[in-house]
Amino acid sequence: MRAMVLERPGELLNLVERPDPLPSDGEVRVRVSACGVCRTDLHVVDGELPNPKLPIVPGHEIVGRIDQVGRNAGRLAIGMRVGIPWLGQTCGHCRFCREGKENLCDNPKFTGYTRDGGYASHVIADVAYVFSLSETGDDVAAAPLLCAGLIGWRSLKLAGDGKNIGLYGFGAAAHIIAQVARWQGRNVFAFTRSGDAAGQAFAKRLGACWAGNSDEPPPEQLDCAIIYAPVGALVPAALRAARKGGRVVCAGIHMSDIPSFPYSILWEERELVSVANLTRRDGEEFFEIVPRAGIVTQTTPYPLVRANDALSDLRSGRLEGAAVLVP
Ligand SMILES: [Zn+2]
Ligand SMILES: [Zn+2]
Repeated sequence: MRAMVLERPGELLNLVERPDPLPSDGEVRVRVSACGVCRTDLHVVDGELPNPKLPIVPGHEIVGRIDQVGRNAGRLAIGMRVGIPWLGQTCGHCRFCREGKENLCDNPKFTGYTRDGGYASHVIADVAYVFSLSETGDDVAAAPLLCAGLIGWRSLKLAGDGKNIGLYGFGAAAHIIAQVARWQGRNVFAFTRSGDAAGQAFAKRLGACWAGNSDEPPPEQLDCAIIYAPVGALVPAALRAARKGGRVVCAGIHMSDIPSFPYSILWEERELVSVANLTRRDGEEFFEIVPRAGIVTQTTPYPLVRANDALSDLRSGRLEGAAVLVP
């Protein structure tokens, strides 16, 4: 197999040839056909997340086909089209797993962070955390659904059902969730970096009723807002844009420090919450919605060996939609 491997945070990924891995009991091997590049991969590569497995193969938006099964593969068989998400394994017995909050498991494994991921020709996955995908659709187009879509969906649920929804940072997740929110009949207000006219036009093409700079007040108060950009200064900006009782959801795994702000912008029962990871149930719900909402992803494919370029294009904000690696 071939993989793009991170030896140490802060370094470039290296192309490595390894013997093909073999699935153990309760595992399958997937031949990767596409793997999306998520902002979380940047946080792993840049050393902003603690204790990654090293060396690590990043990547947790994986689409491919099973090409080998271990014993006890259950519902999974060779040839099936599947998706592998960020949640790679949970313990099943901590208090969070028992309460149906496996996204908060005390002892989890995450794909592309604490177990090898999809910047590779092949990947091993635990059968219980693999999503079956329908036979229809393009693999590159489906890849961003596995995290931008899934975590986006979880963050949208946490935002509540307010009519006016603000999306801060119009990248891979927001471009999917804007389509879901429109399908639900909401008004989408898109916030981009200051002066990002292309990003604002992109948001409007996807149905946003307004698009502007993140330091601008929207024309109407927001019932809820989701912050996808890893920028702490957006927290007070979103609270200022929210109505009384409104809710602001921080959807990223890492964010720069939040500047201090006056209590008055949180007062009046505004709520500030974060989203962590996903549950398998989130995935089942979301993949059921994808065809109904008619979600179309915008992707830029890169050959696997150009993973470093894809990461740097994401870092600099040069991408519209999502980067996807093709082995
Ligand atoms: Zn657990
Ligand atoms: Zn992700």
